[in-house]
Amino acid sequence: MSDGEFERVALVGLGLIGSSIAWAAKRAGLAGHIIGTARSEQTRQTSLRLGFVDSIANTPAEAARNADLVILCTPVGTYGGLAQEIQAALKPGAIISDVGSVKTAVVRDIGPFVADGVHFIPAHPVAGTEYSGPESGFAELFDNRWCILTPPPGADRAAVRQLSRFWERCGSNVDFMTPEHHDLVLAVVSHLPHLIAYNMVGTAADLEQVTQTEVIKYSASGFRDSTRIAASDPTMWRDIFLNNREAVLEMLGRFSENISALQRAIRWGDGEALFDAFSRTRAIRKKIIEAGQDTAEPDFGRTARKTPGKPAS
Ligand code: NAP
Repeated sequence: MSDGEFERVALVGLGLIGSSIAWAAKRAGLAGHIIGTARSEQTRQTSLRLGFVDSIANTPAEAARNADLVILCTPVGTYGGLAQEIQAALKPGAIISDVGSVKTAVVRDIGPFVADGVHFIPAHPVAGTEYSGPESGFAELFDNRWCILTPPPGADRAAVRQLSRFWERCGSNVDFMTPEHHDLVLAVVSHLPHLIAYNMVGTAADLEQVTQTEVIKYSASGFRDSTRIAASDPTMWRDIFLNNREAVLEMLGRFSENISALQRAIRWGDGEALFDAFSRTRAIRKKIIEAGQDTAEPDFGRTARKTPGKPAS
């Protein structure tokens, strides 16, 4: 097997990301056999029925046994326990990776359970939707999206290349960073926006004089577009904030300073300051679209997907 291909791939966790990896790997012919496992029997059976795994295992250790590539696709808070559980089952030469949205904590939690001869290469595909579960995945999720690898110093170069090619052939553009830098960048581009979206929806829900019906009825005025991600999985996001605390708090501090500046401009009628701030952000938003990282459509080009394995129409 060469160039990003693996004889046996084990996926621990078969939700949005696990199922999308399986669909993408099948599309590109990257795995001789895909074995998957999840916490519940229901998810395991659904995955088998949908056909993105070739077989299922009842435990993570059973899935990891004899696998050439094992990817943890569960919430970040489970990684330490799972790494310990599969430690003895991993064969020498196997690659263990993950998809966690934070990296410093992942290295801290998985690192101690990686035996000599096993290659640990953390990864984060920066791609997602607000949907969860085995039916939400599709092969195109990673197309033209970044996947960030954070190999530890001295990592086996051939193993890093194999995993990097795997992600490229799943459709991703691959980038490399240290775990610390990754966490800082993601705090800005992902974690803080989610926190703000959760807070905006929470704030609206707290207002007694604005009924829920009104929030839904008038949501096209901005609320809808800026709060779509507030529907994201609560377990996953709890784990992200608990495991990227420092970077998120740092970014939250800066955000608070900026919002205070805007508050001040509004209070003092400083139209010039507001216009300058909005012009600057408008230009940044245009660059995101030009970089192919989003569409200009108000629903961000994503509507509910109907067929498992197929992208949103
Ligand atoms: P998801 O759709 O909620 O799926 C999570 C999967 O993990 C489910 O199959 C669940 O099994 C399984 N699971 C949970 N705890 C487990 C355990 N202790 N042992 C075995 N399986 C367990 O979540 P997701 O969106 O795919 O996210 C998974 C990971 O990807 C997270 O670490 C997240 O940080 C990362 N990520 C997510 C996104 C995104 O936008 N969603 C993007 C990039 C990276 P059951 O179904 O049986 O409960």
